[in-house]
Amino acid sequence: MPRTLAVANQKGGVAKTTTVATLGAALAELGQRVLLVDLDPQACLTFSVGVDPEDLEKSIHHVMLGGVTAQEVLIEFEDAPDLLPATIELATMEVRLAQEGGPEQVLRTALRPLRASYDWIIVDCPPTLGLLTVNGLSAASDVLIPLQCETLAHRGVGQLLDTIHDVQVLTNPALHVLGVLPTLYDGRTIHARAVLDTIADTYSLDVLEPAIPKSIRFAEAPAIGETILRTAPTSPGAKAYRALAGALL
Ligand code: ADP
Ligand code: MG
Repeated sequence: MPRTLAVANQKGGVAKTTTVATLGAALAELGQRVLLVDLDPQACLTFSVGVDPEDLEKSIHHVMLGGVTAQEVLIEFEDAPDLLPATIELATMEVRLAQEGGPEQVLRTALRPLRASYDWIIVDCPPTLGLLTVNGLSAASDVLIPLQCETLAHRGVGQLLDTIHDVQVLTNPALHVLGVLPTLYDGRTIHARAVLDTIADTYSLDVLEPAIPKSIRFAEAPAIGETILRTAPTSPGAKAYRALAGALL
């Protein structure tokens, strides 16, 4: 069975999508069979691996609605992770899910037929704690929390951990919190380190290493459908994600 990693934080701009794309690519470089799942209606992950959501007739939205299988919307790549893409229609899913019985397990059920084909399934959660994120967490074996180490970064961490705890109690007792991944990290400032230490202590969370350094290189890659591993392969950011992938194995 694959490890299914939910990348979650209800704060936007903390590098969830970047982490899903780049960590996934780094695991694929190591020979792992990787599937990325875009669970954000903004479809930034889908865009950033070079797929225009506007061109898609079907997406994860239709799979979660039922009647369409995950295989039917799966986009396979030659030497990069495969993708279950999102489209803006996914924005209506929270309301629809709320009307169903067992709305937390829809993604888990949808992914089941693909599980045997992958070593890793990595889910890009939207910046909310609603039913889409709960579906991501319910389908996962592990959750990784990207965190930008700045003042007020901790705001919301408690709520996220409460949500994770609810999922553990209600739908997914095996869900394991891998820890926080420091992103957009400026190691030169004592401040970043201090924020990180405070959060790790306050919430008893592991801090994953290495921290992902802040770099303008990250902004460039998704525009051409690549990750930093290809556009700046020897940059500190690329090295950090490769090291993280190695550590996860
Ligand atoms: P989220 O999915 O949490 O909203 P994104 O992955 O979309 O966050 O990242 C938000 C922005 O920050 C994007 O413009 C991305 O290119 C940029 N970014 C991500 N990681 C880094 C980094 N390590 N250094 C600098 N910019 C980064
Ligand atoms: Mg995102």
